[in-house]
Amino acid sequence: MSSATPGPRPTPSPQPAPSVWGDEAAGVAAVLAWAAYRVGRSTDPLTTARPADELEELIGGSITPDGLGSMRALSMFTDIVVPATRSQDDPMNLAYVPSAPTRSAAAFELATAASNIFAGLWEAGAGAIHAENQVLAWLAEQLGWPATAGGCFVAGGTLGNLSALAAARHAAQDRRTAAGLPRDPAGGWAIACTADAHSSVRSNARVMGVDVITVPGDHRGRLTGAALAPVLDAHHERICAVVATVGTTNAGLVDDLAGVTEHCRAHDIWLHVDGAYGGAGLLAPGLAPLYTGIEHADSFIVDPHKWLFAPYDACALVYRRPELAKAAHQQTASYLDHVDRHEWNPADLAVHLSRRPRGLPLWFSLVTHGTDRYRVAVERCMEIAHTVADDIRRRPELRLVVPPDLTVLLFERRGWTAEQYAAWSREQALAGRVLCVPTRWQDEPVLRLVFVNPDTDPGLVSDVLDTLGG
Ligand SMILES: *Cc1c(COP(=O)(O)O)cnc(C)c1O
Repeated sequence: MSSATPGPRPTPSPQPAPSVWGDEAAGVAAVLAWAAYRVGRSTDPLTTARPADELEELIGGSITPDGLGSMRALSMFTDIVVPATRSQDDPMNLAYVPSAPTRSAAAFELATAASNIFAGLWEAGAGAIHAENQVLAWLAEQLGWPATAGGCFVAGGTLGNLSALAAARHAAQDRRTAAGLPRDPAGGWAIACTADAHSSVRSNARVMGVDVITVPGDHRGRLTGAALAPVLDAHHERICAVVATVGTTNAGLVDDLAGVTEHCRAHDIWLHVDGAYGGAGLLAPGLAPLYTGIEHADSFIVDPHKWLFAPYDACALVYRRPELAKAAHQQTASYLDHVDRHEWNPADLAVHLSRRPRGLPLWFSLVTHGTDRYRVAVERCMEIAHTVADDIRRRPELRLVVPPDLTVLLFERRGWTAEQYAAWSREQALAGRVLCVPTRWQDEPVLRLVFVNPDTDPGLVSDVLDTLGG
């Protein structure tokens, strides 16, 4: 590393004045000041959604021919828009999968936006793409993949899964073509996964026009090699990809990767690993046995906005063989012919062209804090989950319904109905004590807690569990 810069640079000039936009300086300063204030503060757990008609009453008619000025616009945002949203980074938001960015990552989201980099193609985004690639290379190293692996950041796990599955199908089609077979098999292509794979896998299958073959899960719903084997034996001609999940969204369970990879390799079928939430667990040395086999997968996603302490929205998508993704996704057109595509082009590797370098907030925070701090933070979330799980086990009125693999806890309050869970959940949310939303486990209503925020205090969670007592 060197601090040398390539020659003297001109001092950037201010925006030309007069501009068609007039003088925006005061508005810019106010917006940046609010952003700085927000990044440095804890969040308000009482903020919540409101009906559109109420919102329209408050900020309706705000888009006018003459404009209202930046101060009015900003106060609408701070006083009405933001309070009508949920605090994803509140330490007591334990619902769905929340998001707990480091302050460095959140602040760097602003720097990323301010630099307005087109990071679809190397020609326009080289420096930013290179920095993002450092993060992807670090992830590939955690996966135990070769240095030739690579990918790009996309908006979310849904788009990451779609891009990977489309690449898998394209690779399967090319292989049939090379073997002198029709491009598509009799009966059409299919993806194999369990019922507990993320909903985006099924919606992506619809987008792609392929079938989903549901493999029965084990007693915890996990995909196993034993259940996958007969499905691959029967349908291997049609299956272009198997999707394994490391950290199911509902229960945080990790599929039997070792068994699954063995059978995918035997049939030479693409294995996509969906780690949108649980991919972060790769960083915790104690969890390594759960991830054994991942070194053989063909594609992988993890959402930094879930358990990797980055703000919305970012999904890291990594391919073992990026050239196969390029074959599927590269866009060509006369207006793109003259683009110098040397080095690395994220636009070639997923369903997108224009993109901002949304991996930079994670890059900045990783460079700032170092990878050890990330391991500590992931392990801290595991400790919190273990502490709360033990707390639940000690309470006779509660029961963990499934042994957790990662940081999702599913538990029941003995004797409660779905209506009682819903009423309790609403009451806690309105009081700003905790966001804990019920789900179902094996057709029974249960409560669900997700820990992705290392600043969550298990003592406060214990106080919340007290309200479920007696
Ligand atoms: C959240 C999630 C997704 C979808 O990710 P988005 O970023 O919300 O699009 C996919 N798979 C799993 C396992 C998830 O938990």
